[in-house]
Amino acid sequence: MRTFRYHRATDPAEAVRMVAGESEAAYLGGGTNLVDLMKLSVQRPRLLVDVTRLPLGSVEPLSDGGLRIGATVRNSDLAAHPVVRRDFPVLTRALLAAASGQLRNMATVGGNLLQRTRCVYFQDVGKPCNKREPGTGCSALEGQNRDLAILGWSTSCVATHPSDMAVALAALDARVEVLEPDGAREIPLTEFHRLPGDRPDLETTMAPGGLITGVRIPALPYARHSTYRKARDRASFAFAAGSVAAVLDLDGGLVREVRIAYGAVAHRPWRARLAEEALRGQPATMENFGLAADEELAAARPLPNNGFKVSLIHNLTVRTLADLAEAATR
Ligand SMILES: Cc1cc2nc3c(=O)[nH]c(=O)nc-3n(C[C@H](O)[C@H](O)[C@H](O)COP(=O)(O)OP(=O)(O)OC[C@H]3O[C@@H](n4cnc5c(N)ncnc54)[C@H](O)[C@@H]3O)c2cc1C
Ligand code: SF4
Repeated sequence: MRTFRYHRATDPAEAVRMVAGESEAAYLGGGTNLVDLMKLSVQRPRLLVDVTRLPLGSVEPLSDGGLRIGATVRNSDLAAHPVVRRDFPVLTRALLAAASGQLRNMATVGGNLLQRTRCVYFQDVGKPCNKREPGTGCSALEGQNRDLAILGWSTSCVATHPSDMAVALAALDARVEVLEPDGAREIPLTEFHRLPGDRPDLETTMAPGGLITGVRIPALPYARHSTYRKARDRASFAFAAGSVAAVLDLDGGLVREVRIAYGAVAHRPWRARLAEEALRGQPATMENFGLAADEELAAARPLPNNGFKVSLIHNLTVRTLADLAEAATR
């Protein structure tokens, strides 16, 4: 058995000092991902700094209509928050589509953003994996890759980011507040997670030892017209095979503004900017929704076992936007 030390932090700066000052240290949120990976020997921290007692546990509606969410807010509390349900329904729907009630009661916002990939080879210390052990190779390239990426992957790693919540936050232009050893800053969520390139072991643009302190969602009045659609192998308690978060603002029958993000297709939540661009100013029709999805998915490079994801994401995009357009006319 490998022993580790445990410390319950009460001050964010103290937590960062402790983690940055030790080479094998990790923050502990709800533990629903990290503890599993410790049991599998995938992660072997010598020091765990528990962040759940930090004063980061509140959801604060801002006077301009935006929202600040503390990093230790539990996923279930965030999903149920009345302002989130009313003003950012895409976020509530994404959260409720994830995991199970018990897991959501434990999982924190910070931990959800930093949960690790579900690639089976990453979780199996007996198999080569560049993400877990740089330079050993990628077992998934010619192995089980049905659940893995179709966009933005490299020959070093074809893993996907598994979070549903992060996809909704990408569509909402959220910003991640971090406290790094050199101080505090904000990182746009769409730039927070990295594409794998030749360093899949580096997963975010945050400095080593950085602590997520919160997430800020800017005011977006038309985000009341937003939703999340997730396709998965089972009706509940399963990770996404593909998902779409969308926000739609119509002017008559024309698309005035639209935000689209895809989940389970890349190493990070995938903001579909080409599809958005193709739709602005266009009639809100199923045909145009499909053409916009085609525009985004032209860059897709399916792996041997996941070609189905291209049509899955295409169809999810059309259905999700059509639902929002239909709701706007009611
Ligand atoms: C059976 C099962 C099914 C699931 N299904 C889904 C699903 O369908 N969709 C989905 O999105 N998720 C799913 N999950 C994943 C779940 O959402 C995550 O495990 C959870 O969100 C992680 O949050 P946590 O607080 O428990 O993180 P932890 O396990 O505590 O931490 C995860 C990582 O984040 C780091 N960390 C934690 N907090 C901070 C912080 N504030 N700053 C910096 N680093 C931090 C930790 O060091 C660790 O590396 C599932 C999990 C399980 C076990
Ligand atoms: S896809 Fe990434 S996580 Fe999976 S085996 Fe390859 S390198 Fe490892």
